Amino acid sequence: MANMSLEKNKMPVQDPAVRSANFLEVALGYTKEQALDEAARCLQCKNKPCVEDCPVNIDIPAFIAEIAAGDFEKAYQSISQYNSLPAICGRVCPQETQCEGKCIRGKKGEPVGIGRLERFVADYHNEYSNPSGGAEIQADSAKPKVAVIGSGPSGLACAGSLAKKGYAVTIFEALHVTGGVLSYGIPEFRLPKSIVQKEIEALKGTGVEIISNTVIGKTLSVDDLLNSGGYKAVFIGSGAGLPKFMNIPGENLNGVYSANEFLTRINLMKAYLDGSTTPIHHGKKVAVVGGGNVAMDAARCARRLGAEVTIIYRRTEKELPARAEEVEHAKEEGIVFLFLTNPVSIAGNEKRWVTSITCEKMKLGEPDASGRARPEPIVGSETVIESDCVIMALGTSPNPLISSTTAGLDIQKWGGIITDEQDGKTSREGVYAGGDAVTGAATVILAMGAGKRAAEAIDAYITE
Ligand code: FAD
Ligand code: SF4
Repeated sequence: MANMSLEKNKMPVQDPAVRSANFLEVALGYTKEQALDEAARCLQCKNKPCVEDCPVNIDIPAFIAEIAAGDFEKAYQSISQYNSLPAICGRVCPQETQCEGKCIRGKKGEPVGIGRLERFVADYHNEYSNPSGGAEIQADSAKPKVAVIGSGPSGLACAGSLAKKGYAVTIFEALHVTGGVLSYGIPEFRLPKSIVQKEIEALKGTGVEIISNTVIGKTLSVDDLLNSGGYKAVFIGSGAGLPKFMNIPGENLNGVYSANEFLTRINLMKAYLDGSTTPIHHGKKVAVVGGGNVAMDAARCARRLGAEVTIIYRRTEKELPARAEEVEHAKEEGIVFLFLTNPVSIAGNEKRWVTSITCEKMKLGEPDASGRARPEPIVGSETVIESDCVIMALGTSPNPLISSTTAGLDIQKWGGIITDEQDGKTSREGVYAGGDAVTGAATVILAMGAGKRAAEAIDAYITE
């Protein structure tokens, strides 16, 4: 008998007053009882509308049915046929615009908590069923080697799918730590790094080799990999790590960060820990410019470093691109939002440290190319906001290093690698690409979907 409650089981979370001063995980995960109760809300729809909007097509009613039957390991096995990083996706996917956005229960009340159930199943598996990682897969020595550039979600998904097919796969990673944005961008309190590393260890257990501290385009080129390296195909999953700025006066003052730099110092280099060798400016009044997940993460990190934080966004709350849960958590933690507001300049003192940010008020006009209402300035509406640190979270684009060192690789004007949408094939023979390097900054699950599809195409290319 289905549970007809109109509301999702609430996710237990750390108290906002306590968590805004620590970096421990905010959402604590469902208990067994909550997971069983939530799974009973699923109506097992025959036409599965929730699956349509899942970029990796997880059979959602099937895994929820296993939870409802109390077989959590079988639920995990069901998800992992489609998604190799469920503990991560259960935590960071924007479910409200994907599977849960299509859930039939959402028509009258809240949708089934699909993301929360996915996280429960993955955590249960990690705790009770698989303490030492994944099963070893022997590479087929008759199959050629494949190189993957970047160890973010797209690279990991591509490598995992190829390893399952018996290929010997090597991932080349520029940084000393693997995981891409999962490790250097998304903070510990949203995605504990032990979970990311556990998923990567499981992947290594399947035979994938990871070589870190290797910048493709500098240490080695794509040509080196294809020629002397002996790799038959290359997948580029190098992400979009180049930050954008507004080009307004004062942006080069001390205390102005790109969100990428600020988050990398905190998440990758652990600058928030006493004794860390990486410095970070502890601003008292921090202004964060932007409205996406990156802005929320930067704001919440600054809050945990002890600042009063204001998010400055040029559209209204309705247009905020960040996940709804992150916005709610940011508000609970005392972060102030200034909507319809846009910076025009930043002022500093004689030592060139930021002292304030001047903003103008905006109103919404006609839709722009992205389909969202275009914000327009209101003349004479400038106000000065006192700030000793400004973090720019305005989006990122792909780093041109690989495209500028690889002959025959076509790119968009803004730097994205041009590929066939279906299979990630680039203009260069044997070279495939996917994730943020192709789309610009997007989502974990879209990057994984692209990595998986490219793996299928690489297999077809090699075996044809
Ligand atoms: P990345 O994750 O960027 O990985 C690329 C990897 O390639 C990196 O490890 C990089 O070091 C490496 N690399 C780059 N150049 C080279 C080179 N020349 N040689 C070798 N290696 C190289 N998405 C969500 O779905 N939910 C969220 O909540 C969310 N929050 C986010 C928060 C932040 C702060 C940020 C920055 C992004 C967030 N995203 C979120 C977006 C998501 O993380 C990305 O869309 C996703 O990680 C893209 O995966 P990718 O594999 O394409 O690239
Ligand atoms: Fe269950 Fe909602 Fe999917 Fe229907 S749409 S199968 S209720 S999760």
